[in-house]
Amino acid sequence: MSIDFSQDFDAPIVTTNLTPRDEEEFSLRPRRLSEYDGQEKVKENLQVYIEAAKRRNEPLDHVLLYGPPGLGKTTLAGVIANEMGVNIRVTSGPAIEKAGDLAALLTNLAAGDILFIDEIHRLNTAVEEILYPAMEDYSIDIIVGKGPSANSIRLDLPRFTLIGATTRAGQLSAPLRDRFGVSFRLEMYTAQELRRIITRSSTLFGIEIDAGGAMEMATRSRGTPRIANRLLRRVRDFAQIYYDGVITKEAADHALSRLEVDKLGLDATDRRMLRAVIEFYNGGPVGLDTLAATIGEEAVTLEDVYEPYLMQIGFLTRTPRGRCVTQLAYEHLKLPYTKGEQLTF
Ligand code: ADP
Repeated sequence: MSIDFSQDFDAPIVTTNLTPRDEEEFSLRPRRLSEYDGQEKVKENLQVYIEAAKRRNEPLDHVLLYGPPGLGKTTLAGVIANEMGVNIRVTSGPAIEKAGDLAALLTNLAAGDILFIDEIHRLNTAVEEILYPAMEDYSIDIIVGKGPSANSIRLDLPRFTLIGATTRAGQLSAPLRDRFGVSFRLEMYTAQELRRIITRSSTLFGIEIDAGGAMEMATRSRGTPRIANRLLRRVRDFAQIYYDGVITKEAADHALSRLEVDKLGLDATDRRMLRAVIEFYNGGPVGLDTLAATIGEEAVTLEDVYEPYLMQIGFLTRTPRGRCVTQLAYEHLKLPYTKGEQLTF
């Protein structure tokens, strides 16, 4: 049993947000379900499916994981492989350019292996069509030759498990979505869960952190383990220079303020976005593309990275006519709440 990322390092087809070259990030990833904090509902069900598949000596059904970036989709795919005792091959939607690339990946799998495709909503149609029979019947049709003499050959594949990850389940085509036996939505983490994740990462990094420091960081990590781990590296630097290397509440607060991460974890872009809706569009509604152009960010970045947390904390709502900022956001930014007031002429 192994998670074999090594052979993927230099293969051009394989890219991954696993950042395998980044030893630190790699070593932080939990390997077992018992180490994977949070996502209790997902874990409970997964445990049943994994156990049942193992007892039947069958591969796990195809799994779709969705939710905002950094919540642990890739990590969970690795955990599933470990729990199943199988190998995992890691790739991503945009990395698979041609149908032949996917065919090569699939035919190289061994029975029971897991193929993990990150950003699966970005597969192109020709590639996606290869995936349908592969997922359903464990076979693919390959066209050999050209023109009238072209022949279609059916290749049988080993029984494998596809794990797809996406930030946008809504963008998946219905035929692809329907071929997943199981789909899980990952939720943002609570402060308590993040506190445990930060404490665990600190131990692995050899960083000293006290309970107050861990909690301060947890509440300012936007419910996202990747952000928590990223902030931990930066806060460690400040702790080393100013606080004898120990991350206390005060050290965390000082460092995060210097990083312009506020008490709720909002950064400069969040604030710019909220302010733009308030100042230029009287609190909204404003269309996503217009808003993105106003603040000079990409619409997909706002939608995938910034909005989920702002909606989670009730600062932003999506309406059919566009984005609206709530009173809570006005209060947080210390701006007078004027939304809804009619301008009189
Ligand atoms: P995604 O694939 O959803 O973008 P990742 O799986 O790459 O997210 O996770 C990002 C980082 O967060 C990883 O470094 C991982 O160590 C950490 N992480 C994610 N989920 C958990 C968890 N449940 N427990 C502990 N650490 C986690």
